[in-house]
Formats: sequence, C-alpha cells, structure tokens
Amino acid sequence: MTRKLSLTVDGKNVAVHLHKGDLPETVSFTGAVAVDSETMGLSLVRDPLCLVQLSDGGGEAHLIQFDRASYDAPNLRRILTDVNTLKLFHFARFDVAMFMRDLAVVCAPIYCTKIASKLVRTYTDKHGLKDLTKEVLGRDISKEQQSSDWGAAELSDAQLAYAASDVLHLHALKAKLDVMLAREARTEIAQSCFDFLPTRAALDLAGWEETDIFAHS
Ligand code: MN
Repeated sequence: MTRKLSLTVDGKNVAVHLHKGDLPETVSFTGAVAVDSETMGLSLVRDPLCLVQLSDGGGEAHLIQFDRASYDAPNLRRILTDVNTLKLFHFARFDVAMFMRDLAVVCAPIYCTKIASKLVRTYTDKHGLKDLTKEVLGRDISKEQQSSDWGAAELSDAQLAYAASDVLHLHALKAKLDVMLAREARTEIAQSCFDFLPTRAALDLAGWEETDIFAHS
C-alpha cells in the first residue's frame, strides 16, 4: 500500500511516497541512495525500527513504515545489501545496527557524512546534521520532529516532512565533504572507516556499544 503526498520540506515542495511494510518492486533508484531511519528511541535493545527513508537525490523521498510485528521487506533488503548501490547516511553506525537487528541485513557499501565531517571539520565539534547542512550547504533544516512518536499508526505530515528532510541533503553534503576529504588527504582513511561500520554495528549489538576496544584501558 502506497500513499503519495506533496509536502513542504525545508521550504520546498517535495513528493513523498509513503509505503507500508516494504518498498514496491517497481521503485528503482539510480546511483547512490540516501538512507535514514526512525525508531522508538536510541536503545539497540529496547527500541524497534519504525520507518526507513530513502532518496536517490532527485528530490523525492520514499518512506517505508513498519507495523513492528514483522520486518519482511525483501525489496528494501535488496537495496540495502546491493554491492553496486552506495548508501549515504548521517551517523550510519546506528541505522546499520538497527538494520542488522530488525531487517537481518549487513548494509554495504556505506558512506557516512558524520564520519566525513569529523575527519575534515576539525575546527568544530558541531557534527549534527542541522549544523553540518547549515555550514556546508547554507541550508536551514528543521529538527523539530526528531523526538516524536514514530510508532504511531498514522504519522503526521510534519513527521513525514521531517523524515524526508533527513535524506534530501545527503547527496549534496557528500559532494562537498568529498572535496574537503581530498584536500585534507583523508579520503582513504574515511573509506576505511566506512568499510568498518558493519563491524562497529555488530560490536554495538554484541554489548561493546560503550567500549572502545582500541583504547588502552
Ligand atoms: Mn532521521
């Protein structure tokens, strides 16, 4: 079941496709796909996955809402695991762990704008999506609906617009961050960090979430 909505997202009119349970087979993406998810909270033990958002950077967003009873979503799983489709995230570590737990997939290959930001924007500690988008792209995005009830059967237009917003800027951010990574000669180390993310997520799920296994003590 799909509903197509036209919503105002960050001041622009955006086509938002809301799907229940899985992405329809007919939806395909070209190039890299921006991915985000919304959950009942930040606990990898307690909080189920509620919504997954996708965009190929063309200005539309696809949202997949789960009933939290089953996560049988073969079409979504196919994209998340497609070796030829780069998945762009902001703080991939959390989403990738959630997907590992609830969708039973190892999501790859990955690009994380938060890791890229930390590797190049060493002059600040503001690496949240709102601050990053404001500085790098000069765009204002709202984070008002971040803490809202993503488990509701009917999500509000404000929630859907917020959820869409989180995947609409990642392609542009990647383009800028790639230039900065090259300038600082940190492209390769960034790639190694991205490649390590599924392992980092597996460690989080296995109980090492708060432990830096590379630390001396
Ligand atoms: Mn989000």
